[in-house]
Amino acid sequence: MDLEAVIGLEIHAQISSKTKMFCRCDNDSFDKEPNINTCPVCMGFPGQLPVVNDTAVSKGIKAALALNCEIPEYSKFDRKNYFYPDSPKGFQISQFDEPVSVKGYVDVEVTDDEGSEPRMMRIGITRLHLEDDAGKLTHVRNGSLVDFNRAGTPLMEIVSDPDMHSSVEAGAYAREIQKILRYVGSSEADMEKGMMRFDASVSLRPKGEDKLYERAEIKNLNSFKALESAISYEIARQTELWEKDELLKSPITVGWNDEKQKTFFMRDKEESDEYRYFPEPDIPPIHATRDMVEKLRSEIPELPHVKKKRYMEEFSLIEDDARILTNNLKIAQYFEKVVDKSGDAKRAVSLINTVLMKHLNEELIEIDEQKVSAEMMAELIKLVSDGDISYNAAKGEVFEEMYASGKNPGVIVDEKGLKQVSDSAAIEAACKKVIEANPGPVEDIKAGKDKAIGFLVGQVMKEMKGQANPQMANETIRKLIA
Ligand code: ZN
Ligand code: MN
Repeated sequence: MDLEAVIGLEIHAQISSKTKMFCRCDNDSFDKEPNINTCPVCMGFPGQLPVVNDTAVSKGIKAALALNCEIPEYSKFDRKNYFYPDSPKGFQISQFDEPVSVKGYVDVEVTDDEGSEPRMMRIGITRLHLEDDAGKLTHVRNGSLVDFNRAGTPLMEIVSDPDMHSSVEAGAYAREIQKILRYVGSSEADMEKGMMRFDASVSLRPKGEDKLYERAEIKNLNSFKALESAISYEIARQTELWEKDELLKSPITVGWNDEKQKTFFMRDKEESDEYRYFPEPDIPPIHATRDMVEKLRSEIPELPHVKKKRYMEEFSLIEDDARILTNNLKIAQYFEKVVDKSGDAKRAVSLINTVLMKHLNEELIEIDEQKVSAEMMAELIKLVSDGDISYNAAKGEVFEEMYASGKNPGVIVDEKGLKQVSDSAAIEAACKKVIEANPGPVEDIKAGKDKAIGFLVGQVMKEMKGQANPQMANETIRKLIA
């Protein structure tokens, strides 16, 4: 039987904000001592009243708008009741039937196999809603430890339609969401810090059918690689079940064991009525006025796929280069600044995407965590276009020294004596000398063997201790021989 996988994703992303969702506790608990960012509100003490974090709501709506969602004028919070030691309140404040946004979509570029042409696909967004996070459990030998620093931090949950059919599509979608959240500033979406996590629902069906069969939901995937591997594994596992005619009879929840690269059964999936949802009585509904929505919409920056297209048109970049630059907003901004100040997009791309990016990737740092500013990079490019140094010297010795020391390129060129001689009289004198000393190659050039010119330029460079402008040397030799 020809089977097709049906995949939907829930993405939880931490909203970047100073404080938690319903209290004034610090939202940043990465690497902090356990249980210091807590207060009676996020600990669920009786009699405490939550107050909604305005910034978190605005950033949630902004993300929803970037995902082309509709924003209903009113939405509300609900209590999702469950008992677990990481939840001090005994419930999560989430949004059930009236979320802050609905019905969006995102266009995603998918590359099925390495080297194949990318294709575009549109993936529906069911909803984006707001909620608060739980604490964190650490299981040790004689028990479990709980850290409530994360309890109550603001989350947006982005629920996709079941529009994806492979782990590659799911991975491409998840990466696009991460890019968009970062572009609009709604979340840092740093997976290493647990700021973005995935739940993936996977089921199979005979190709051509519309029906959705019972699914397995893989919980808490915390990297793109885990997401893709877990989906691939689950598709293979369910394919075997179909072949044995042992379909899932009810939805299940599974976990992912990264070491064994296998999913494992956790529990039968809860139905929503088991959570006893009811409207949160302590928080008034959110009123998203049309003015507020339009103001937020106007603040959305140019999104990555639009920027990529513009770079290709405006700066004549090839698609791969444009994609690399726009994958990261900070790099895109850096690039634009370098082009603005140097007027040379071609050399800017080459220096950023190959030379600088190599360092960033090796050291796993961001572009604003190193010493070469956009201004310095532009100055380096100008030194090349003014003929002061060769491009090879620029991308090699001078860049490396800039990167290591943070010195200006002009200073480095002076210190190292790298300045090319572009003085035409000096070059002409050297060329004459070389031509006289090498009658053989000169005859070759006269006979049309153009290769010999390289040898003569080399001799001129030698004569001038490597500081001649090679372009000028080349032109001068041709002129003199002609
Ligand atoms: Zn608190
Ligand atoms: Mn959730």
